[in-house]
Amino acid sequence: MRAIRHKDTSPEMLVRRVLTQMRYRYRLHVKSLPGKPDLVFLQRRKIVLVHGCFWHQHSCPEGRKPLSNSDYWEPKLTGNVKRDVRHAKELKALGFDVMVIWDCETKNEGDVARRLRKFLGPKHREWDARLKRKKAPRTNATGD
Ligand SMILES: [Zn+2]
Repeated sequence: MRAIRHKDTSPEMLVRRVLTQMRYRYRLHVKSLPGKPDLVFLQRRKIVLVHGCFWHQHSCPEGRKPLSNSDYWEPKLTGNVKRDVRHAKELKALGFDVMVIWDCETKNEGDVARRLRKFLGPKHREWDARLKRKKAPRTNATGD
């Protein structure tokens, strides 16, 4: 069990690396939004959360509540889940689509990339290219 939680957990770093490789632009831990979401795509109105299976109670083996010390863990973990639900509702009300990637789902970078791509839609590079095509003058300046 990982008792210490850093802001930059390694599954989150993996997701960030994949996003950077795919040239998506995002903002990190946006304080002005409910729950200070991990990865925010403002123009797309999309949010990606990388959740630890234990702390956010995923329905996988890692998300099992500890049998010992349940007086301590039960309210803590239940509280986390309630807070997640509330934040998701608030974000939705602000017009954001939210996708959760669980720690246990970050074993395969290719899978993560495919999911992100599907959720986020066309990459910025493609958007940029489309914009440039619109703006670019019709004639070729090199005189070919
Ligand atoms: Zn899990």
